[in-house]
Amino acid sequence: MKSLDNVRFVLVGTTHPGNIGAAARAMKTMGITNLHLVSPKIYPSAEATTRASGADDVLHRAVVHDSLDEALVGCHYAFAMSARLRHLHVPVMNPREAVTQLEKFDDDTHIAIVFGREHSGLSNEEIDRCQYLVNIPANPDYSSLNLAAAVQVVAYELRMSFQPNIDHGRIGEEREAITADDLAHLYDHFERSLTTIGFLDPENPRYLLRRIRRLFNRADLDRNELQIMHGILRAAETKARKE
Ligand code: SAH
Repeated sequence: MKSLDNVRFVLVGTTHPGNIGAAARAMKTMGITNLHLVSPKIYPSAEATTRASGADDVLHRAVVHDSLDEALVGCHYAFAMSARLRHLHVPVMNPREAVTQLEKFDDDTHIAIVFGREHSGLSNEEIDRCQYLVNIPANPDYSSLNLAAAVQVVAYELRMSFQPNIDHGRIGEEREAITADDLAHLYDHFERSLTTIGFLDPENPRYLLRRIRRLFNRADLDRNELQIMHGILRAAETKARKE
């Protein structure tokens, strides 16, 4: 599977419209928009729209069905979400394993993630419609997440896996890479200036310089930060010479 557009989230028999809205919001924050509802108790509802809080586009596009079979039309595989591990005839995986499985599917594979009712989850018949069973490993004494919270966990895993190019750096700031020789010059500069200011022990210079190298190897400096380091060292040298 290639894109989050090929994923649909199916909520079966949801009782509280607020949970439908909160699920829509959870999905939209992670870039997932295909929401299908099977026989919701109360829907549409103002409560759902309020809890969607800006994700009402996802809510308005939601498709309502009379049966799970209908909601799964066009899907190649379905993953049942269950808080209980009683359905031993299907292999159980956690959301991360499920997402790894999705990555193996052909690009145009369509899949459904199926969530159950707040009070009773999914029936055995509904789970039988699904090829995979997914459990969010939780506190064994209190393992049932709120429906929208369960939606959020799965949506997050999907996003982490299908958007690998999320910018983990500082947003809005270009970071120019530096090279090994830039770092070598910086270390030379450290050696000179730390000697000038009397910080480097001339009897044993290697130990400190090695620690400094290790520090900067971890730091992943960009060019701007490199210039700042040179600037600090120059300023310290100038000050020391004046004294
Ligand atoms: N009391 C129900 C739990 C309902 S919670 C039961 O025991 O089955 C509503 C839905 O959220 C569940 O049907 C399931 O789809 C999802 N969910 C909640 N906690 C989960 C968990 N730990 N792992 C997987 N799905 C979970």
